[in-house]
Amino acid sequence: MSQMRKDVFTGGWVVVAETDTVRPSDFHFERFTRETTFCPFCETNEAATPPEVFAIRSPGSFSNGPGWSVRVVPNANPRLRIEGELGRRAEGFHDLMNGVGAHEIIVETPRHDRSLHELEIDEVSDVIRAYVARIIDLEGDTRMRYVLIFKNHGEGAGAHTISHSISQLMALSVTPRSVKTKLMVARDYFASKERCLYCDVLQQELRDRRRVIAENDDFVTLAPFASRFPFELGVFPKSHSSAFSRISPPQIKNLATILRDVLQRLDHAVGGPPYNLSLQDRPFLRRREGYWNTIEDDFHWHLQILPQIVRVTGFEWASWFFYNPVPPEIAARCLSPVP
Ligand SMILES: [Zn+2]
Ligand SMILES: [Zn+2]
Repeated sequence: MSQMRKDVFTGGWVVVAETDTVRPSDFHFERFTRETTFCPFCETNEAATPPEVFAIRSPGSFSNGPGWSVRVVPNANPRLRIEGELGRRAEGFHDLMNGVGAHEIIVETPRHDRSLHELEIDEVSDVIRAYVARIIDLEGDTRMRYVLIFKNHGEGAGAHTISHSISQLMALSVTPRSVKTKLMVARDYFASKERCLYCDVLQQELRDRRRVIAENDDFVTLAPFASRFPFELGVFPKSHSSAFSRISPPQIKNLATILRDVLQRLDHAVGGPPYNLSLQDRPFLRRREGYWNTIEDDFHWHLQILPQIVRVTGFEWASWFFYNPVPPEIAARCLSPVP
């Protein structure tokens, strides 16, 4: 049998298998392997990328040379370009604009042989600091409305064939539809209850505990009730905050700690699945009268980690329902702490 579970954050439905017997070994996927060909993201190859827009460097090192822990560079083959005007216009019934935005690569480590979960806590903290610094910088560009940060780990999740550990950033002139759906659901909930939907859900999950995977002073990781993917994870700040970039220094360290911990558990317990990680943040607050009046109170930023070990099929594309063969309660049990 199965259950239809409603995703309280999106209003969507997920078909979740009802079973007690799934094991990570039931799924077949390729563990991430790195190529050893020339890599533009390795330390000492800095000249092979466009000039850096941000870096965390050791004292005495120079821009675009070695001596960094995190380095952000424009994508050499960007999907959107930073130069030019948006040029919003109509073509009959259709709306269009120029492909203006930023597309950057956040090189998470100078070393080619390390993944995010294999870095030291301080190094993961530097990656988070780089995310924050780029968001704050891009917030000043009034053409941009949203910064999307995501990571593809493993070929099954669309990782670059060069396979150096990187995240990507796209600054967009529109808010992505998937985020907008969450924003609207959260706004409606707040309008009727005057409380944050996410704070309410976290309170209940922390009481119930069946889907809690990890927790520290500032963050909690859950297997969401309506997980769309096997071993899906959500990382939420415990105290309410709508904007990731307002994170405090102690919170950065706690986020780095819990993120590395749960990624290590995915690696150990599930066997290093390909995954997509993304930041689900609020858009920049631009003047659009009456549009997102309560957003700072009603939306609650979070990270989403979606392992890619089952294929998205015609059912998902046709219905926008997902079928998840691993109940999140089982996923939470499988992802027990790494000894
Ligand atoms: Zn490399
Ligand atoms: Zn909240």
